[in-house]
Amino acid sequence: LASRAFHPQDTLVTVGNHVVGGGDPTIIAGPCSVESLEQILEVAHAVKKSGAHMLRGGAFKPRSSPYSFQGLGETGLKYLAEAREQTGLPIVSEVMEIDALPLMCEYVDVLQIGARNMQNYPLLRAVGKTQMPVLLKRGLAATMEEWLMSAEYILSEGNPNVILCERGIRTFETYTRNTLDLNAVPVVQHLSHLPILVDPSHGVGKWQYVTAMARAGIAAGAHGLIVEVHPNPKEALSDGEQSLTLDSFDTMVQEVRRISAAM
Ligand code: PEP
Ligand code: MN
Repeated sequence: LASRAFHPQDTLVTVGNHVVGGGDPTIIAGPCSVESLEQILEVAHAVKKSGAHMLRGGAFKPRSSPYSFQGLGETGLKYLAEAREQTGLPIVSEVMEIDALPLMCEYVDVLQIGARNMQNYPLLRAVGKTQMPVLLKRGLAATMEEWLMSAEYILSEGNPNVILCERGIRTFETYTRNTLDLNAVPVVQHLSHLPILVDPSHGVGKWQYVTAMARAGIAAGAHGLIVEVHPNPKEALSDGEQSLTLDSFDTMVQEVRRISAAM
């Protein structure tokens, strides 16, 4: 079902009044984690002004250490809903487990499946039973074939609203957090009709390189970007080292738009 041979035309996924895959590059921005109502409102208003189409923010976080900040849970979802109320931006947030799915569906517009859960087949089947748009991140060590098979799990349950997201893979390189595999953009577009976004934040892991890789993702033909933005990255409770400030995000959007307009 994910294959272009089966479905030659590009799939468009509608979220609110925005169409992912519809020409204009989709820009999703926000903090790695929702930390407070003030923080999420400040980011939401700023990224909206800069031209973002959706707001991201984790409420349930898949942290490498059980002692790291795990997210605000339902309180975080309530803050996201308030940010949507004030800005009109649809909400993207990660669902980590099947038990949390009904709660997530109450509050969010796009269900994010994180890299660590890309091969959680029961979770994929469960989101496949909804009609919610799903942002399916590539696993840390997943081949493109395995990633598309994970999309197949969602599609085969009857949910056609799958958006793929390249977020970097594990390689021998340690200077960057991951290696953003931009090969995935043209390859996946050849193999599949599903829209594909690029996450340069997790892809490089250092804010200094995020804008360059955002530009590269759009130049490679991605349908959009998901980027971490924080009003004060030094104080962030997660992924501060890869978060853009509100100002640097604004510059990134302008640069990305120039590239997209020139294509
Ligand atoms: C995130 O988007 O904050 C995140 C945890 O992403 P990934 O699953 O790609 O690591
Ligand atoms: Mn993050």
